[in-house]
Amino acid sequence: MRAASGQGTGMAEYELVIRAPRAVTPDGVRPVTVAIRDGRVAAVAGPGETPDAVSVEELAGPEVLLPGLVDTHVHVNEPGRTEWEGFASATRAAAAGGVTTLIDMPLNSLPPTTTVPALAAKRAAAGPAAVVDVGFWGGAVPGNLAGLAGLHEAGVFGFKAFLADSGVPEFGLLDATGLDEVLAETARLGALLIVHAEDPGVLAAAPDPAGWAYAGFLASRPAAAEDTAIAGLLAAAARHGARVHILHLASASALPLIAAARADGAAVTAETCPHYLSFCAEEVPDGATEFKCCPPVRDAANREGLWAGLAGGLIGTVVSDHSPCPPALKHRDTGDFGAAWGGISSVQLGLPAVWTQARRRGHGLADVVRWMAEGTAALAGLAAKGAIAPGRDADLVAFDDTATFTVDPSRLEHRHPVTPYAGRTLTGVVRRTWLRGLEAGAAPAGRLLTRQ
Ligand SMILES: [Zn+2]
Repeated sequence: MRAASGQGTGMAEYELVIRAPRAVTPDGVRPVTVAIRDGRVAAVAGPGETPDAVSVEELAGPEVLLPGLVDTHVHVNEPGRTEWEGFASATRAAAAGGVTTLIDMPLNSLPPTTTVPALAAKRAAAGPAAVVDVGFWGGAVPGNLAGLAGLHEAGVFGFKAFLADSGVPEFGLLDATGLDEVLAETARLGALLIVHAEDPGVLAAAPDPAGWAYAGFLASRPAAAEDTAIAGLLAAAARHGARVHILHLASASALPLIAAARADGAAVTAETCPHYLSFCAEEVPDGATEFKCCPPVRDAANREGLWAGLAGGLIGTVVSDHSPCPPALKHRDTGDFGAAWGGISSVQLGLPAVWTQARRRGHGLADVVRWMAEGTAALAGLAAKGAIAPGRDADLVAFDDTATFTVDPSRLEHRHPVTPYAGRTLTGVVRRTWLRGLEAGAAPAGRLLTRQ
């Protein structure tokens, strides 16, 4: 690393240098001097280097430098259901949680992102508001098969499909024939299909979810619904040679299906979420609809099965599935799990929630970075994200991995601070977040990303 530009202009060579006693890099956890130019990591040097920079930041002793997280599963709901959430509030929450890139889900906004004009409406809403980088998934729904190629061309990162009721009428589910047609098309395009995999037949045969008992809600969405849908999806994907990704996996009993498909050469990946790794059904109070999400939080043994799936690599990524709604739609007053909206908002809490559980099970920060930054960036094909390495965007997080805090909903930045983490003590505090070398959170400096 040169000490100065050598141009005789007196200009510093780098706009920012960050020194960290520990950083999670692709070469391991080590002390670094990160030199940033034009918003990118120009060099990652050792602790003794003194590059010439406009400003130098020294991380405090307990802080570790991480790459900014990439959350590939966030429901922003704007435009159309902006009273549920929005790009300004969701991306502020993301920045506060160390997330510097999010990929927005195609449903719950109006219109849903199932056409090119709808994608344009999304981009118009996000552009002036986003404080972190934002990309978009498209939707594959009944009736838009012929439009998938256009959405792919317009830069969506892939397509989301539901195999069961999505919860909103404008985003329909694919039946077996529809799924086959979509897989043929995504395989032809070389696009990724990401799937909410619960089987509508199994759900229809299960007990009704109405009532305040959590056990009743859990029985209404059994693991068999996920396992059956995943088996069908993997068989269909194999017929077409299509690349599929299983969203928010909550059933550990589906892991052998994924392992078998991989052994047969399938390009299948899976994600899970902080809530499935943190909570268990035995501990969810009756009437506590803030815990309702679909698929549901299952029992403690299942939770440990998901952790084993992460440890063994069958689950590659952890994403928030941040899915807010107005508090009234959670029906906390009646505690009716049948009536409540299913969704947990945790884009701001995912990192400490996962770290709190991961460290107890012997995982290191490098594992968390692999699941929440490197792996998610790779899933979305974002070559400039997900690692502290030369050429990548200088998206960085100063994380105190030993500090603890108690979750206070009033300190959450997303629109409606309803959270099942309220009052929980978590380990790990995000101190600062940089987006392309600039402090993230205040200015709408986020860029709109397209598939590369
Ligand atoms: Zn979701």
